[in-house]
Amino acid sequence: MGFGTTLIAGLLVGTSLVQSGGTPSDSRSRFRYVEMHMGVPFRISVYGSDEAAANKAAAEAFKRIATLNSVFSDYLDDSEVTRLRKHASRDPVPVSKDLALLLRRSLKISGETDGAFDVTVGPLVRLWRRARRRKQLPEKDLLAAAIASSGYKRCVLKDRSLSFKTDGMRLDFGAIAKGFACDEALRVLGENGFRSALIDGGGDIAVGDAPPEKPGWRIQIEPMTPEEPVLTLVLKNQAVATSGDRYRFVEIDGKRYSHIVDPRTGMGLTSRLTVTVIANNATDADAYASAVSVLGLENGLRFASAKPGIECRILDYSRAKPEERHTSGFKRLASPDVTNGPDG
Ligand code: AMP
Ligand code: MG
Repeated sequence: MGFGTTLIAGLLVGTSLVQSGGTPSDSRSRFRYVEMHMGVPFRISVYGSDEAAANKAAAEAFKRIATLNSVFSDYLDDSEVTRLRKHASRDPVPVSKDLALLLRRSLKISGETDGAFDVTVGPLVRLWRRARRRKQLPEKDLLAAAIASSGYKRCVLKDRSLSFKTDGMRLDFGAIAKGFACDEALRVLGENGFRSALIDGGGDIAVGDAPPEKPGWRIQIEPMTPEEPVLTLVLKNQAVATSGDRYRFVEIDGKRYSHIVDPRTGMGLTSRLTVTVIANNATDADAYASAVSVLGLENGLRFASAKPGIECRILDYSRAKPEERHTSGFKRLASPDVTNGPDG
């Protein structure tokens, strides 16, 4: 995730409010909002009958997202993650409740994926950001040093106390924090009485109850190529996230290296996969989409098929004709009807 915080600081890309008429038996209207957070537009849609209450709920949800950015951003100089990087040593340091919660979840997913997803990948991500700027592969010795200062097993969390077992460790929540922010925003809206809601954090999407008299929220997954058919999902109380190398990559000597890194080799992925994961919440969808990308086509599909509560589609662009694979339940959530637009 690009926590492009220069864009963030209070920048509102226009809070729009659109009311669409409710159905005859349901007088709820739809209210829509958008603000920039974590370097991407976060969109909120809610159904309700009280506009002032919807405005207040959306404002609270955005505030929660901004708070999470101040914890997890690795662009902000004074975020908790940045401060940890500057000060954390092998001595235990206390961390916030949010950081402890998401770190615990991240470490669990690291274990489940055998380190394909690794929240300590920060030193490698830093090298690959530099590689993208300079259009040069990271030097071998720097890669080796970055691998030596990462590894989730060397990051130890006990209650709210964190210690690193190696020097130079940097946490990176780029593959999971946007999903978590969507879940938290959805929770805040629900607590304010808006259970029929959608949050779209730059493509990571969480939805609550279905819109009035609809089976679910219609969500369109943006095609990667003009030839690819539009995928429309119909979801309620679920989430979806997509990971891939479409926007953030570097091409060196004709090879495309993704911003997603294989923590075991230290290399940016070159497998050319686009992975869409549907899960019960956006934190999982976000993290597993990144993890499956690292695991690769066969292992990733095997992992997703065995994992209860998730469905996954993988598009493989490494061939002349892109190949599509998915878990057995994925198509059940897709709508064959592409004539209706999205609800998002
Ligand atoms: P996403 O777009 O959700 O797949 O997240 C990609 C971002 O997650 C990158 O920009 C990095 O900040 C971070 N990241 C890269 N590789 C990994 C990995 N193997 N495990 C966890 N986070 C990663
Ligand atoms: Mg992710």
